[in-house]
Amino acid sequence: MFMNYISVIGSGTMGNGIAHTFALSGFKVNIIDLSQDRITEAINTISKNLDRQLQKGTITSSQHTEAIGNIQGFTLLEAGVKDADLVIEAATENVDIKLKIFADLDKLCKPTAILASNTSSISITKIAAVTARPELVIGMHFMNPVPVMKLVEVIRGFNTSDKTTNQIMDLSVKIGKVPVEVNDYPGFVANRILMPMINEAIQCLNEGVAGVTEIDTVMKLGMSHPMGPLQLADFIGLDVCLAILNVLHQGFGNPKYAPSPLLVNMVASGQLGVKSGSGFYDYSAGIKEAVLSKKFKK
Ligand code: NAD
Repeated sequence: MFMNYISVIGSGTMGNGIAHTFALSGFKVNIIDLSQDRITEAINTISKNLDRQLQKGTITSSQHTEAIGNIQGFTLLEAGVKDADLVIEAATENVDIKLKIFADLDKLCKPTAILASNTSSISITKIAAVTARPELVIGMHFMNPVPVMKLVEVIRGFNTSDKTTNQIMDLSVKIGKVPVEVNDYPGFVANRILMPMINEAIQCLNEGVAGVTEIDTVMKLGMSHPMGPLQLADFIGLDVCLAILNVLHQGFGNPKYAPSPLLVNMVASGQLGVKSGSGFYDYSAGIKEAVLSKKFKK
């Protein structure tokens, strides 16, 4: 199947990165979000990130212009997905939101369109079950920041066909990524392993075992991680981390996945990490200038 038109639902952290990556690889990309403001913000972010690539010399100015020209924004789902060969849903990590989107997509998209979700943890099989095309539903789990990170975790739902899986594996290679095929269990592979580590780091902080910089330094220097787990949690979004831990906790029924009460409180108070300007670190002066959040200062 020749895939030309890609629609991305949700233009937040992941949606704008996915749109950026496909547009730069020559695909026509529609991005769909709930408000024009969100779309304008996403296109501005993509433009700034392309500027950065241009300054670094990793893209040419004609690639920059072409990529921006490949992107169109929509607030109406129907208009944004009607021509799509592939839809990638990157909306908020909430099961009800995703089930509603997929039920609508099934009605609005071409019968041959593949419907993918960038969910971090929600069951692809459950999402596929609200459509009449479960063989065409698949997980396409990109990593943050999408234009930089090579991995795509390709998740086969219970009924995803070999053909759909092969097409998505091939497409991922075409956009310069390295796809890895996994099966549909809570958290898949990436977050089943990553989130308990982040949660444990938050619990260490909560119990006073060590401070934010100490925990992050131990993991960076001791384990050769490029970023400490608390900084990574801020980067992912603390609300996203909490949502994933809740899926793991409910999915396996094992208390080892119960989210740290500190994480629950931070999300309830609106401290979501980079996207809200503050989490374990304070980003009000920018990511590079991040310092410890007031609450965690000694
Ligand atoms: P985000 O909060 O930055 O963005 C979500 C966007 O979805 C928002 O702009 C919101 O307005 C939009 N949205 C919500 N409901 C919608 C609807 N019905 N129609 C259209 N748009 C809608 O979230 P994010 O971090 O980009 O996460 C998006 C998805 O990607 C989630 O499923 C998340 O688990 C997954 N994911 C996130 C990361 C990460 O590091 N943040 C990494 C991998 C996967």
